[in-house]
Amino acid sequence: MPKPLHPVGIFGGTFNPIHFGHLRIAQELIDILGLKRLHLIPTGTPPHRAEPSVTARQRAEMAMLAVQDHPHIVLDEREVVREGFCYTVDTLTALRADYGPDQPLVLLVGADAFLGLMGWHRWSALFELAHIVVAHRPGVLTHTWQDAMPIELLREYEHRHCDDAAALALAPAGRVLPLAVTQLDISSTAIRQMVAKTRSPRYLLPDAVLRYIEEHSLYVE
Ligand code: ATP
Repeated sequence: MPKPLHPVGIFGGTFNPIHFGHLRIAQELIDILGLKRLHLIPTGTPPHRAEPSVTARQRAEMAMLAVQDHPHIVLDEREVVREGFCYTVDTLTALRADYGPDQPLVLLVGADAFLGLMGWHRWSALFELAHIVVAHRPGVLTHTWQDAMPIELLREYEHRHCDDAAALALAPAGRVLPLAVTQLDISSTAIRQMVAKTRSPRYLLPDAVLRYIEEHSLYVE
């Protein structure tokens, strides 16, 4: 029997800015699944948005500062450098082509993001391209969270749900694993608001990221 492949992790987000809530769920996924590599993928800028005050490049630079010494997390800038907006389904398709049809791929999302999955472009194709690990998040009632799922998403969830992390190494895609992670009630929105009110977000995000925010006067009103 062939040895199971180490799954490859994929974690996308706006990361405006990246914070310890993001970094902690990435670390717990790495440890629980024994990942050797996790792609951290900041989103590009959607076409219909006015140029935001913080650019995609700046968000990626902050993400780089946060993970540059990590042995298993690689900053993947493919969405930032791409001409035109890139949907998650496009990124997963590209990663699937890079890694081949047999490699287990694991997309990490927070519970709030999973509940909104049906709003994602070609959302049901995501299950064919990767497993999805759903990290619990404070404020999302995880014991009753299935009640919050739209019926079509619930149907997929019930069909694909699994509780055994080791099972993700045995297939390239298709399972959904809820993951009880350390609950850190941190959001980028709260950090931006603190900076705007001249309150310090120190200890909610890496010091190097905070220095970058200060040096570039980000989020100041
Ligand atoms: P914002 O407040 O700007 O909406 P955010 O803090 O939710 O930002 P995103 O970059 O939008 O951060 O999130 C990227 C991914 O990380 C999403 O899947 C989100 O659910 C997850 N996530 C963010 N913060 C946490 C957290 N504290 N705990 C668990 N998951 C989180």
